[in-house]
Amino acid sequence: MKEQGQALAQSLDRAWQELVATARRTVADGLVVGTSGNVSVRVGEDIVLVTPSGVPYERLGPRDVVAVDLDGTRHAGSLAPTSELPMHLAIYRNTDARAVVHTHAVHATAVSTLVPELPPVHYMTAALGGIVRVAPYATYGTEELAENMLTALADRTGCLLQNHGTVTYGNTLSQAYDRTAQLEWMCRLWLTAHSVPGLTPSLLTGEQLDEVGERLRGYGQQAPPS
Ligand code: 13P
Ligand code: ZN
Repeated sequence: MKEQGQALAQSLDRAWQELVATARRTVADGLVVGTSGNVSVRVGEDIVLVTPSGVPYERLGPRDVVAVDLDGTRHAGSLAPTSELPMHLAIYRNTDARAVVHTHAVHATAVSTLVPELPPVHYMTAALGGIVRVAPYATYGTEELAENMLTALADRTGCLLQNHGTVTYGNTLSQAYDRTAQLEWMCRLWLTAHSVPGLTPSLLTGEQLDEVGERLRGYGQQAPPS
């Protein structure tokens, strides 16, 4: 029993370190400014670690851990959790996500003000499950925003939030982060192609995206036999 408790404490420490590193990376890579955005990771079945609300990420240390359970009840820590807790918990309750990243990435946010979905200009659209939708605007931190986001996320691992930013999830923090970076890059790509006067970017068809979706399942290094 004592050993189980120690193992949990260790995995919480490790997950918190990784979460803080990911949150810092969103600032370092220019995906957010100041304390905007938030990050979370699920540990075991019942615990979710989240960034605290409004605290600069470089100030976060090992004792600032914020842990809640899936209905938002505090498990550990004294800092107030991110104001977007409803979005993070809605994803964990309704998908197989193990990590969630929310940013205000500038090109993605610009796209969210222009169109109801990101036109599929690149095959990496398939890496997010298909054409990326824009969740209709709602005030930050509300259940309404979480509901709009969940609808936009159906069969996708990422969406845009109108006049607000991005949300992606994954099996790990690094996968969730990478999906955000890819989404921001695709938004920049579309804005660039779409801004050429007199020309319209070509778009991929559903069939082309499905084919890429299949192919991406075998992309990169396959896990070595265990
Ligand atoms: P928090 O600092 O409360 O996480 O809020 C930042 C944010 O992006 C709200 O949408
Ligand atoms: Zn936000």
